[in-house]
This record gives sequence, structure tokens and C-alpha cells, in this order.
Amino acid sequence: MRPWEENIRKVVPYVPGEQPRREGIIKLNTNENPYGPAPGVQAILRGFEAEELRLYPDPSAGALTEALAERYGLSPGQVFVGVGSDDVLAMAFLTFFNSGKPILFPDITYSFYSVWADLYRIPYERPALDEDFRIRKEDYFRENGGIIFPNPNAPTSLAMGLEDVEDIISRNPGVVVIVDEAYIDFGGESALPLIEKYENLLVVQTFSKSRSMAGVRIGYAMGSPALIKALSDVKYSFNSYTMSRTAIRLGVAAVRDEAYFQETTHKIKATRKQAAERLSHLGFVYPDPSANFIFASRPGTDAKALFEALKASGIYVRYFEGPRVGDYLRITIGTDEQMEALFQFLERY
Ligand code: PMP
Repeated sequence: MRPWEENIRKVVPYVPGEQPRREGIIKLNTNENPYGPAPGVQAILRGFEAEELRLYPDPSAGALTEALAERYGLSPGQVFVGVGSDDVLAMAFLTFFNSGKPILFPDITYSFYSVWADLYRIPYERPALDEDFRIRKEDYFRENGGIIFPNPNAPTSLAMGLEDVEDIISRNPGVVVIVDEAYIDFGGESALPLIEKYENLLVVQTFSKSRSMAGVRIGYAMGSPALIKALSDVKYSFNSYTMSRTAIRLGVAAVRDEAYFQETTHKIKATRKQAAERLSHLGFVYPDPSANFIFASRPGTDAKALFEALKASGIYVRYFEGPRVGDYLRITIGTDEQMEALFQFLERY
């Protein structure tokens, strides 16, 4: 090894879902929204002027912070925005998980958590989900350096009741608890109202799923002014201009269109209900889905072989290797037509 190589930070990176260049595929593999962004977002892009790129953006992304604060009945000092919730979560790990004690998150969950923990050298423990893939709240009633879990969880799509979420928060007043609500607009109950009661609670959400803007990269955190100030201080010590002027404007337009948001999230929930029923008819089992995907397994069918066969026919879903999860496919809810194509394939298969 060359001497300088010893001092390289070694990380095993997170592996995102495939973004195939292939045209004409049915893409149900990365939990994107099949409907386009709100019409107001599209109108801004039609009138886009390159002049907008000349100036630096507002480092506080004030217009977007204010629009979000208004939408959720908060003050702007309770909102932090970033480049997708991945950016917000990475900043939150860096800001809040510094005690040297292990942080806690489930063994089966968003696989980026362990990557950030390794990157920042934060120790962690991963309590196992129970046999039905549920988070056992009691596992989080012990000494730790912080807690993070998604609700609904990924890739299981299972939501935890708000009372159980609150139990975890109230039993952990000494650390920051992050509830990652990337999928909350599709089901489950948000912990947002609890930020008024618990100064150590951070709720993180995203524009990538329910607002159909994964390509723009907008995520946000909501919490007490003390948590938001701490996050902002770290962000300004890292990169002041995280959000482009365009992203800020598009984000504001998306938040303002409540009707479109309601219409599209309802459509996805209706399609999910039908898809769940059809999967049952075909012999699949799955945890009760609350996100915009279903985590399904068919006893007796090799999930990996099915994943490969689907892919060969142009239908992309997500497969994770590993104990327990290796028997399942994570299927994003697409349009009714896309789901029909999936089911026709499954019936033949
Ligand atoms: N949290 C969870 C649980 C997710 O599944 C994802 C999507 N990969 C994210 C956060 C990050 O999404 P984004 O950065 O697009 O907001």
C-alpha cells in the first residue's frame, strides 16, 4: 500500500436502485411517483431563463422554508431544507450523533443509515424487527446515542402507530430521535405534531415521493428551533448554497398546490389497494403497506429469479439480497396501466 493510501477514508458506499438508460421500461424500482410534478412546477420550467443561473441562491432558501412552514403551521425557524432528504439526514447524523454511544436503528431499514454511521464513525446497533417485520419499540428503551427509523419503514412499507412512536421519543429525552417520514403522505400518522412537545424530535420528509420531484432533490426537516439552528450551523460550515435558485422556486410551487398533491397521493393509495388484492390472489404475502410500495413474497417462488425475469421483460422492481429480505420484492406503485402490465406478467410467470 502506498503511504498516502493508509489515510484515505474507506467507505462502503450505499447502492441506490438502478436508473436504467433503457427506453420504454416500466420503472417500479425506486419508489418514484408515476404522476408528474404539479402543473405550477411545469409552468416555471416552460418559462425558464438561463439568467436565473447567474446569481448565487439564497443560502437560507427562505422562500421554500417559509412555504413549508405555512403548509405545516410552523414558524420558519422550525424548518430546515436540503438537497433531498438524503442530504438532510446526512447533515443530521453529523450534527446530532456525536456522543460516542451507539445509535439505534432497525436491522431491516433504509440501508443508507449504516453507511452514514460508518462514514462519520458513529457506532450503531440494529435491533431486529419481529417476525412480522414490525419495529419492537421496547428495543429502543435503552441507553443509546440517538435513534432513527423510517415511518412507514422501508423496504417493508409497514407503519408504526403514533402512540408507539411517541413512546420511543418520550423514553429517550437525552438524545435526538429522528423519524424519517419519506413515505408518510401515503399512509401512517405523522409525528409532526409532537415537535411542539419534544424538543429532541426531528421529523424528516421529502419532495421525492408524494410531490413527484425526485429529480429536483428537495428534502426538509422539522423540529424545535434549537435542533434547526444546530443543523443550519453545520450546513453553513459545510456548503452554504445547497439548494439552487431553480429548486427553491420549483419547491415553492409544489408546496402551494395542495389540490394536486391530494389528488395524486389518493390515486396512488387507490392503486396500491387494488395491487395488494391482486397480489394476494396470486399467492403473494406482504406486510400491510402504508408507503408507495409493497414488499411482497410468494412462498415457493424464488424472488431473485422472478426479479431477473421481470427485468428481462422490461419491468424493474427492487430486490435486496440477505436473510429474510431475500425472499421479497419491493414493488413501487405505478399507474394503473403499469400495474396491469406487471400483473399480466406475473399471471403468465
Ligand atoms: N428515507 C427513506 C426511508 C428512503 O427510502 C429514501 C429514498 N431512497 C430517502 C430517505 C431519501 O430520499 P430523497 O433523498 O430522495 O429525499
